[in-house]
Amino acid sequence: MRKTVVYPGSFDPVTYGHLDIIKRAVKIFDRVIVAVAHNSEKDPLFSVVERVDLLKKATKGIKGVEIDDFKGLVVDYVASKNARIVIRGLRMISDFEYEFQMALTNMKLSRDMETIFMTPRESYSYLSSKLIKEAASLGADLKGFVPGFVEKAIKEKLR
Ligand code: ADP
Repeated sequence: MRKTVVYPGSFDPVTYGHLDIIKRAVKIFDRVIVAVAHNSEKDPLFSVVERVDLLKKATKGIKGVEIDDFKGLVVDYVASKNARIVIRGLRMISDFEYEFQMALTNMKLSRDMETIFMTPRESYSYLSSKLIKEAASLGADLKGFVPGFVEKAIKEKLR
């Protein structure tokens, strides 16, 4: 049986942290659907279409990955894909409270869905899209945090 998992998030924009999780996930699951949420952040830097596009470029060549977007509840989207597993990344303890709340809420909303947490390698464990955007606005070099074309896209947005 082909195992499908959904990796939902804002991905505003994709970082090497997200990519590390995706690369780990495809080793375990047959099909990894990376799903950009329409409603997860109020004031995103990139539109959903742009975020999907950057993710597609960043995951080109990784077998077993699909990029999609969704509106509404994660549990409904996961069911619509005939899947029952959601992957979330856990970086620091600071992620834990929010992720734990969300996993428990989703468990309450759907009896069929399971959340699996994956950790990135240590060197990416502090990376966040939010911090990268802040650093970029202050003129930081983003090499090592995001692919070159993502850095270019961020800098164009902030110009
Ligand atoms: P959110 O969905 O909370 O808006 P993101 O889109 O930034 O967050 O991230 C989507 C998922 O990827 C979340 O589970 C988040 O914890 C995880 N994630 C983000 N950055 C990293 C990273 N550097 N390493 C591991 N997981 C990460």
